Amino acid sequence: MAEPTQFFGDGRRDQTFPTLEPLEVERIRRFGETRVYAAGEALGRVGETGHGLTIILSGRVEITRGAERGLPAPIVSHGAGSFIGELGQLSGRPMLVDAYAHEPVEALLIPPERLRALLVAEAELGERIMRALILRRVGLIRTGAGGPVLVGRPENADVLRLAGFLSRNGHPHQRLDPETDPDAKALIERFHVDPGQLPIVLCPGGQLLRNPSESDLARCIGLVGPIDQDRVYDVAVVGAGPAGLAAAVYAASEGLSVLVLDCRAFGGQAGASARIENYLGFPTGISGMALMARAYNQAQKFGVEMAIPDEVHSLQAVADPAPKRLSLTLANAERVQARSVVIASGARYRRLGIWNLESFEASSVHYWASPLEAKLCAGQEVALVGAGNSAGQAVVYLAGHVARIWLLIRGTDLAASMSRYLVDRVKGLPNVTLVTEAQITDVGSRDGTLEVISWRRAGSTERVSRPVRHLFLFIGAEPNTDWLAGSGVSLDTKGFVLTGPEAGTDRRPLETSRKGVFAIGDVRSGSVKRVAAAVGEGAQVVAALHAFLAESQR
Ligand SMILES: Cc1cc2nc3c(=O)[nH]c(=O)nc-3n(C[C@H](O)[C@H](O)[C@H](O)COP(=O)(O)OP(=O)(O)OC[C@H]3O[C@@H](n4cnc5c(N)ncnc54)[C@H](O)[C@@H]3O)c2cc1C
Repeated sequence: MAEPTQFFGDGRRDQTFPTLEPLEVERIRRFGETRVYAAGEALGRVGETGHGLTIILSGRVEITRGAERGLPAPIVSHGAGSFIGELGQLSGRPMLVDAYAHEPVEALLIPPERLRALLVAEAELGERIMRALILRRVGLIRTGAGGPVLVGRPENADVLRLAGFLSRNGHPHQRLDPETDPDAKALIERFHVDPGQLPIVLCPGGQLLRNPSESDLARCIGLVGPIDQDRVYDVAVVGAGPAGLAAAVYAASEGLSVLVLDCRAFGGQAGASARIENYLGFPTGISGMALMARAYNQAQKFGVEMAIPDEVHSLQAVADPAPKRLSLTLANAERVQARSVVIASGARYRRLGIWNLESFEASSVHYWASPLEAKLCAGQEVALVGAGNSAGQAVVYLAGHVARIWLLIRGTDLAASMSRYLVDRVKGLPNVTLVTEAQITDVGSRDGTLEVISWRRAGSTERVSRPVRHLFLFIGAEPNTDWLAGSGVSLDTKGFVLTGPEAGTDRRPLETSRKGVFAIGDVRSGSVKRVAAAVGEGAQVVAALHAFLAESQR
């Protein structure tokens, strides 16, 4: 059972489970409808979709978790004035807990779209409710309650892949080690799983998946569902990094219907940043994941629909009878129709040209340094390649967790590519050894895990080898524009999207060579590769979208 302090966080019980005053409940009655429940009746069960906020008018409701695994554990008991719901109910996503009437209950049911209207219309009350929904999700993540259960060895690459995917999407989950956890052993026996089939995932609805893809897992837990093929959105945004989320927040808050698609998780590259220190308004810095989770929640509050993970494969114009529509084809062959498209697909990490290195991704080769990776290599020796700011941030973060970092750079001096404040910090760390003019020559492995990394310095014949099991790569990025092949969107020589006058005559700012298709953030040719710049372009593009949509309706 979740310890209350573990669930609520320090001193946050009142904010997590506030009680609304009778006058406040009266004020928001117009957003919902009342319903009565008999003692023992379910107000909502794990996996059910479409619920919004349920405010208890009279009676008592018990909230539990884990019943689907035969291990029900109480979380909280709601009385008059308190409400049932967490972040997922903003968009009608599956319930992560069970709610049963302990005695006859009268409740006010506010469906997801009315809940969003309430949050916008009732500023102060809306803020308290929104904070409670977020804190409850945080509590569920902290305790792993309500999400899928992953069974597999903690260092297994597929366990790390699936856990990383769920963490990046802010979804609660539990990990069980089959060698040490009796619950894991019980599940393996119950489902007759061969050790070679691990990891398995038990979804909250009771379905068992054997080493699923991220997309299959997302569909099983209701993170993503089918797209309405007939709906025409005002804007489809490809990419949920800072640029895409900013465009979505500004567009939806100004009344446009918006769908955001991302093939992996919300947050993009920024979501992978251990600490962003140069984003305006956060003098002590903020983790990229925390900043991006706020933006993601904010977008949902304004009614943005999310399709994550859903990969866009191509962009085309819809032929007659709707020549003013654009269409996106997804990897699963679904189609999205929209009057305008914002390309915010950013960039992806460059890989090292070393044979077979990709096969160690997720287990030993990492492209970001989050708490997940820090835990994995705690107390060990690691190597990190890169000399930019993202490399510097990762070094500063990892140095607090690992025994030693070998920082390998191609150039002769960090200051050539890293901000001064980071260079000073990196140089002040006693467990970081800087190796200049270095190049990794080869790696050695055992049982799918790196064991040793070797490098050589320019002009030297000496080959240095160290027992390093975790290699971090921060060596720049390439634009995610493969999916634009054949779309008629012009790219520069490096593959970045051209916009404005560079894309053609009569182009609006941020508009590409195709009318109604805009590009923002890192994917745009000539953009400043920073979070603030991406967010700024996300806000700016909305003015161009309004102008385009108004013109195309005339
Ligand atoms: C580790 C790290 C640390 C950083 N630290 C800082 C910092 O401290 N300060 C700062 O200002 N900047 C920092 N940056 C740079 C900053 O993160 C980027 O400039 C910013 O994220 C760009 O935002 P974006 O939305 O344009 O693109 P991205 O963040 O790259 O997001 C693009 C999104 O599009 C999705 N996508 C791509 N192709 C498709 C497709 N075909 N279909 C669907 N979805 C798709 C991707 O999955 C991704 O989520 C850092 C970058 C990294 C990698």
